[in-house]
Amino acid sequence: MNYHVLTLFPEMVLDGLNTSIIGRAVQKGILSLSAVNIRDYTKEKHGHVDDAPYGGGAGMVMQAAPVCDAYEALCNKLGKRPRVLYMTPQGQVFNQRIAEELAGEEDLVFLCGHYEGIDERALNRIVTDYLSVGDYVLTGGELPAMVMIDCISRLVPGVLHNNESAEIESFHDNLLEYPQYTRPEVYDGERVPEVLLSGHHQNIEVWRRQESIRTTLNRRPDLLETANLSKQERAFLETLRSVDTAVTVQPTG
Ligand code: SAH
Repeated sequence: MNYHVLTLFPEMVLDGLNTSIIGRAVQKGILSLSAVNIRDYTKEKHGHVDDAPYGGGAGMVMQAAPVCDAYEALCNKLGKRPRVLYMTPQGQVFNQRIAEELAGEEDLVFLCGHYEGIDERALNRIVTDYLSVGDYVLTGGELPAMVMIDCISRLVPGVLHNNESAEIESFHDNLLEYPQYTRPEVYDGERVPEVLLSGHHQNIEVWRRQESIRTTLNRRPDLLETANLSKQERAFLETLRSVDTAVTVQPTG
């Protein structure tokens, strides 16, 4: 997977991603990460890349030409025209399913806006996907690009070691992950659940699925509407729900 980030602040992206698991994968050549400085493509003699918005209003808007020229130079170098993901609060909210789809690409371009955003004409010409990290407004697209690159990279084969598998964790089957425990067996008087020490793999699997369902019901009940559950698991969920109702419904009279 090759990431190309179009940004006014390349060092922010490179410094943020070249450590830990992503940094290790870059070192090993499983991923490549390059940041293109949009400012290098301005023809303006003072190096400006932004100007006041037509029609008035606050802030500055990034101009179309340096953004499009930066992308075209990249395409010429690569000999192809990769997808361009524009980081914007107006985009589809990023999630694990989108990450899985993007992980299948060979090259991805992340376009980071700053100030009030980018001239619409540049977006119309080069952007293929509009993506957001959530319904709030940030100062720039660099952090969203870093969030998405981190998430997509975990799904690229070889990035995680076997013991860091991305297969069964939160959002798998639309469930959150079960609780995790490590040494010691007793911490501050609290024991690790007995089943995890039993060595009985089948019981451990059943316990983990049930705890996933319980956690999802408590923290993100909205996910359960489309969760992938067996008949027994649906029955378990109904038991949890009825216990919950029994506790919360106050007797009348
Ligand atoms: N005026 C714009 C917001 C500009 S914020 C509007 O109201 O839609 C400046 C830049 O930060 C944007 O161009 C975008 O690249 C980035 N950004 C801000 N919030 C974001 C979010 N929630 N997700 C992704 N990118 C975001």
